[in-house]
Amino acid sequence: MNCNQLWLLTVVFLMACTSIEQAPGQTTITRWQDGKKAAISLTYDDGTINQFTIALPIMNQMELPATFYILTGKIKGSAGGRFIGRPIETIIEETATITTDKNNLFERASAIGYTNFDGAIQYHSDAGALVDAGDMEGAIKVIEEGYQKIRNGDLPKKDKIFHNNTTDTTTWEDIKSYAAQGHEFGSHTITHPRLAVLDETNLLFELTKSKEDIKRFLGDEHTFSAECPYGTENERVMEYAYELYPALRNRMPEPYLEELNRWNTMNPGESTKEYVQWQRGPLTNITMKTMKSWVDTCLAHDNVWLVLVFHGVDGIGWEARTGAELEEYFKYIKEREEDLWVATFADVTKYIRERQASQVEAQWEGAEINVTLTHDLDPSLYDLPLTLKTYLPDDWNVVQMNSAGETSVSLEVLHDVNGRFVLYQVAPGTGVVRLSSRQEK
Ligand SMILES: [Zn+2]
Repeated sequence: MNCNQLWLLTVVFLMACTSIEQAPGQTTITRWQDGKKAAISLTYDDGTINQFTIALPIMNQMELPATFYILTGKIKGSAGGRFIGRPIETIIEETATITTDKNNLFERASAIGYTNFDGAIQYHSDAGALVDAGDMEGAIKVIEEGYQKIRNGDLPKKDKIFHNNTTDTTTWEDIKSYAAQGHEFGSHTITHPRLAVLDETNLLFELTKSKEDIKRFLGDEHTFSAECPYGTENERVMEYAYELYPALRNRMPEPYLEELNRWNTMNPGESTKEYVQWQRGPLTNITMKTMKSWVDTCLAHDNVWLVLVFHGVDGIGWEARTGAELEEYFKYIKEREEDLWVATFADVTKYIRERQASQVEAQWEGAEINVTLTHDLDPSLYDLPLTLKTYLPDDWNVVQMNSAGETSVSLEVLHDVNGRFVLYQVAPGTGVVRLSSRQEK
């Protein structure tokens, strides 16, 4: 071995040593709350009644929080769905002489669901699905046909407005009590329209009025996240919706996050991004084995956030799963909670964004490590405590945590391959948090 080789060997040896022991005071924000390996959010769409009477009690029993995206228009006391614009009769008359084109499509598609003919809402939905798929010409044809049928009296009278919500007695009082149990509520609009085919006035009405009602009955904390119906990612809709809501389950455009929506078949393990939001819909053709494998996949990595999208429960709502199936599945998740952070969609979003925007500084001086956590996000929205991990000097066996105005807390000393450490939660902007090796009085 020549001199150069020996030198190289020494460097490699030193590098190996330094990577094993972390310097005392070295502090990081863990990727997930409490240093867990993955996150799961259990979300429900459409606010059908069995979600609250069957699924929610199961979740309460297991102390798992849910996120419910609700249709505010069907809850007594809220703004109901309606068409805002010229008289509908005038619009119907006009369709006899002016064919549907890209200039009148959105007005006509906004109005058709309110023409009081059974089946008319289907023309709205079909046209909207085509716009969502980028087929404007197809949507124009569908709306043209719908109005033709209305004018010819080919559609029977009466309509039902709400998407899979024929049976419902849920009140704001009920929802308020569920929210107090730790569940998140968010807007899924007033009436579940295809937002992409609405004109600006009606699109904004669906988004803003449902937000206002949620704020009025439940408070600001339930206006953080929302889900626009049918998982739309229409650019125009996303632009309006992001003006009103800080987070949408439809889309999360952060560059550090891989977004795998329900119809995306990419394996989340293939992404090298800091975070992967992996949405899965447990529809009725999905086996329990597959549903459980999603949880296992999360646990096989350290960057996956599984967002489950449930709809119907026990026969009410789209693609309904049974209460018994949900119970079995939630039990499977609960049994793995030591490694899984189960949290609302809003909380996981806040955690990820705060962590990405936060600075953590730590100084070790003798028997104290002083830590500060700060970020420049809006503190009225981003106030979720983050988990910090601080490596300890060798002789620290008892660790106390102190912050201004708070009582002292004892922290458990843990260890991993890099050394001994403590995990603790700090809200951004708390000020200096002091870790000390001596007992406080
Ligand atoms: Zn929906």
